[in-house]
Amino acid sequence: MSHTVIGRRPVVLWFRRDLRLDDHPALLAAARQGPVVALFVLDDALLLTAGQPRLAYLLRTLRALERQLGAHGATLTLRRGRPEQVVPSVVADAGAAAVHISADFTPYGTARDQRVAAALGEVPLVATGSPYAIAPDRVRRPNGDAYQVFTAFYRSWLANGWNAAAHSDPNAVEWRTIGGEPIPDDPPITTTLPDAGELAARRAWAQFRGDRLTTYADRRDHPALDGTSRMSPFLKFGAIHPRTLLADLGADDDAFRRQLAWREFYASVLCHIPSTARACVRPCMEGMDYDSGPHADTRFALWSTGRTGYPIVDAGMRQLLAEGWMHNRARMITASFLVKDLHIDWTRGARHFMDHLIDGDLASNQHGWQWTAGTGTDAAPYFRIFNPMSQSQRFDPDGNYIRRWVPELAALPGNEIHEPWRRPQGAPPGYPEPIVDHRDERADALARYHLLRSEGQHAAHRREAATRPADPR
Ligand code: FAD
Repeated sequence: MSHTVIGRRPVVLWFRRDLRLDDHPALLAAARQGPVVALFVLDDALLLTAGQPRLAYLLRTLRALERQLGAHGATLTLRRGRPEQVVPSVVADAGAAAVHISADFTPYGTARDQRVAAALGEVPLVATGSPYAIAPDRVRRPNGDAYQVFTAFYRSWLANGWNAAAHSDPNAVEWRTIGGEPIPDDPPITTTLPDAGELAARRAWAQFRGDRLTTYADRRDHPALDGTSRMSPFLKFGAIHPRTLLADLGADDDAFRRQLAWREFYASVLCHIPSTARACVRPCMEGMDYDSGPHADTRFALWSTGRTGYPIVDAGMRQLLAEGWMHNRARMITASFLVKDLHIDWTRGARHFMDHLIDGDLASNQHGWQWTAGTGTDAAPYFRIFNPMSQSQRFDPDGNYIRRWVPELAALPGNEIHEPWRRPQGAPPGYPEPIVDHRDERADALARYHLLRSEGQHAAHRREAATRPADPR
């Protein structure tokens, strides 16, 4: 059935982090109002910060969307520039009556959408749905504040519930075409990227549900087992909606539902406290003494290229460079190593991750880092320091994850691969000695933490003394 009604003015559907056609509330809202112009704006501000692998993955996702639209006789209008200029000019070209979007709750997205709404004047910017099962501003504590503890958030999120998936039929949409630019070629990358787009997301999800969902809880923490869904790059660009995944979960799938809820939790924290994209959630951690200068730069370079001499750390960092993705356990271990063993500010590591991750997402990344660095919501306390050797023995017991990413160590047996420097003959040729001694650095990290705490207590005493009424004598 077609929605064509003679004389209806077209509307623009401005795609952003919702690059799919099914279960797309903003598409449904747009199609109900009028013929739809499908628009994507290549926004220079985002292109500059995306990192080449994620940019390439975005462009592939856009090509997949273009192919899907083509199968329905439609085209994707792509234009480059500042959204507050491009969107009104597309509206003028199309004679559009409204612009439909999925709501964006990031600090940049919120400010951008305010600018676009102002530039559109009388033409409304209509937000329907968001990249989350529940919009990040909805789940709040009874007093209206954001939750800062995951378990309380999770309970409230479950109790709130979410809308059922809304299937859209792209054949029933009347599409309109206006001129745009071709999708640019991929930037040069050395990363091996997974398939992109909605159809690939559906395939990957069906495969995960069929093979690995039932064993997810047992296998998700073991990076060698490929036990996780790898849905994060699809979720990043909205090639699939989280509620599509949630709708397929049963009562036994709570472990997976909880992980999706972490994504929603961090989006909620960032939405309520946007400063946490850069600043510590726990302000008392702002004064932490981190290293900088040439010595720290050298260590950072060794960490980021996977040459620290700690096999599990190096495996994770090399996976990141090779795939634009890293297993969650390895993300925690490598992040902890940078902050607690190399004493480098978490924001520097977070930037490196954002430069390389194809699922790089401000809320999940910055808060994942803050969790590990002990500066965030519900964070592991600073003094809980990951031991790279015991993490490796526990979560990669046979050393297969290390073997896959650190070929210099591929021939070592399981009992040697976690600490190759302990072999009588030392580490194999080509593999570095550890750049630091974990035991020493752990003690150093704790000393810095205790100093920060005692300075904090002195400062609190000073503040209290300053506000005490003057002695009348
Ligand atoms: P699965 O285990 O299959 O989980 C399913 C989905 O749940 C994921 O796709 C993701 O959307 C969500 N999820 C799972 N774990 C988390 C978590 N701890 N926090 C938030 N969401 C979660 N995730 C990103 O999507 N983008 C990032 O930029 C990002 N940066 C991170 C940085 C650090 C330091 C840490 C510790 C974690 C980070 N994460 C990030 C979270 C997590 O590592 C990834 O979501 C996960 O590894 C993606 O793989 P998957 O899809 O196979 O996950």
